Amino acid sequence: MILSVEKLLVKYGTNIAVDQIDIQVDKGEVVCILGANGAGKSSLLRALLGHTKSSGIVKFKDNDVSSHSATQRVRDGLVLVPEGRKILTSLSVEENLLMGAHLRYDKDIYTDIKKVYEMFPNLSTRSFMSASVLSGGEQQMLAVGRALLAKPSLLMLDEPSLGLSPLIVEELFGVIQTLNREGMSILIVEQNARKALQVSNRAYVMELGKIVQKGISKDLMSDEKIVSAYLGSE
Ligand code: ATP
Repeated sequence: MILSVEKLLVKYGTNIAVDQIDIQVDKGEVVCILGANGAGKSSLLRALLGHTKSSGIVKFKDNDVSSHSATQRVRDGLVLVPEGRKILTSLSVEENLLMGAHLRYDKDIYTDIKKVYEMFPNLSTRSFMSASVLSGGEQQMLAVGRALLAKPSLLMLDEPSLGLSPLIVEELFGVIQTLNREGMSILIVEQNARKALQVSNRAYVMELGKIVQKGISKDLMSDEKIVSAYLGSE
């Protein structure tokens, strides 16, 4: 198991955003978390990253990291592609990639940048241009590339398909599948339930801070409750 979360609780004042949830991600798995706006998905990710106060236990690669700082967690390989990409448009494409490596001191950074360029040729041809020239889809790929530069053991993506055209969403989920085939463990938080279920092995469904359903993604795709609540209108 690469990630194990027990009784995770996130509160904002008296408002409970994540209500004592348990989730697991096995090594090499793609797991998705589905849920409507306000279900608590982003709060869950923030707690996993150590960006928000929480209680409960977060175990990553068999270590209890609950008391570790956000920086320690990234250094350990717990890495997020944030919602809305958060690309710095005042910097070049390559400078954005280098930001992903800011906690690294090894000599392989440029080898890894080359790998990102091989994966995303559109970034390669624009490496020294301002990131502001990139399309929404290219910015999403840059955000994935930047996360890869942090050498993740678990890559977490928060709403990666948000605001992207269907064609780019296809391409993005293709990239996620390729990374997984190469051995990457992945946790995706998504409102695009259909795509997320298609690319994941297992899924959890969050409502009002609680996990209300979990299972094999393929099974959930034909589950009546999931179809009517999350897949019906797509
Ligand atoms: P979205 O898809 O809209 O980001 P979400 O499933 O990620 O939704 P959260 O953003 O985690 O859900 O929100 C869960 C609950 O916590 C909501 O009721 C939200 O209003 C509340 N909440 C989130 N962030 C804060 C905050 N910083 N302060 C107070 N309440 C918050």
